[in-house]
Amino acid sequence: MQIPRSALTIGIDIGGTKVSAGVVDADGNIIASDRRPTPISGGLELIQTIIELIKSFQSRYEIAGIGISVAALISADQGTIVGAPNIANLSKLNFVAEIKKFFNLPVIAENDANSAMWAEYKYGNAKNFNPVMFFIIGTGMGGGLVIDGKLFKGANGIGAEFGHMIVQPNGIKCGCGAFGCIEQYASGSALMRYANEEMKLDSAQANELLRFTAGTGEITGSVLTAAAKQGNKIALSAFNKQADWLGSACASYTLLLDPQAIVIGGGVVDAGELFLNLVRNSMEKYMPFAGTHLLPKIIAAKFGNDAGLIGAAELVRG
Ligand SMILES: [Zn+2]
Repeated sequence: MQIPRSALTIGIDIGGTKVSAGVVDADGNIIASDRRPTPISGGLELIQTIIELIKSFQSRYEIAGIGISVAALISADQGTIVGAPNIANLSKLNFVAEIKKFFNLPVIAENDANSAMWAEYKYGNAKNFNPVMFFIIGTGMGGGLVIDGKLFKGANGIGAEFGHMIVQPNGIKCGCGAFGCIEQYASGSALMRYANEEMKLDSAQANELLRFTAGTGEITGSVLTAAAKQGNKIALSAFNKQADWLGSACASYTLLLDPQAIVIGGGVVDAGELFLNLVRNSMEKYMPFAGTHLLPKIIAAKFGNDAGLIGAAELVRG
């Protein structure tokens, strides 16, 4: 069912710690927003939280559809949750059916990275590229792929989880249950691991790095970004290792999919060209059939934390 362009839709982004919701217009602008903590018991309590958020928007706006972005694998029916490692009691729940009990509106549910990819494709930096790949790199590593203007989902709806390409058989155990996924080597968690390992080896640079934590002693992505920009050797080396893995993966994906561009979103983008240049160099270094074909552009995403919400709100427009 096609929703008229003038209509407003709701986008809801469900993460491991918070539920963000917004009313979105047909140009991808968020005109009202709200957020709640993700209920620890997940499942039906989470559905209840979503219903309350929708009702509160409905009391103020005419809503034509509801799009839900969730950190989970979702089956091809765009409703049933196949697996959600970070949210309790979601597996086998049909999100769409539960929400539809309360609202006579079109409802869709989509994986969070696919939703974010769609926001970038419709309104952001993935626009006008075909095919175009997307990584969202935070604690984990999500993936999305648009081919000929369509979100690619594969035979069962679980595509395109680029973060779970196995790059090290029997390597580090991944949240998905497999071992050696690229997520374990190129995510924000991996970046932190590299920094912590190196801090044990170089106390002078470690002390310098700690000066960026404003007394908390906690190494975060933004601490590493600030320190790398000031030339801290540990921060630079950690980004180098992360980018080396990511670039090698991008080289493989290039021969698999021949994307025109690879868009990178998530917290890692705060490091900007410093990080993207390292990824470009690494991709070139590892590229199969080097020198015989054009390389994909590696570019930063436009949207930050709102990407999933905006993408889901647009996906329900059909
Ligand atoms: Zn994995």
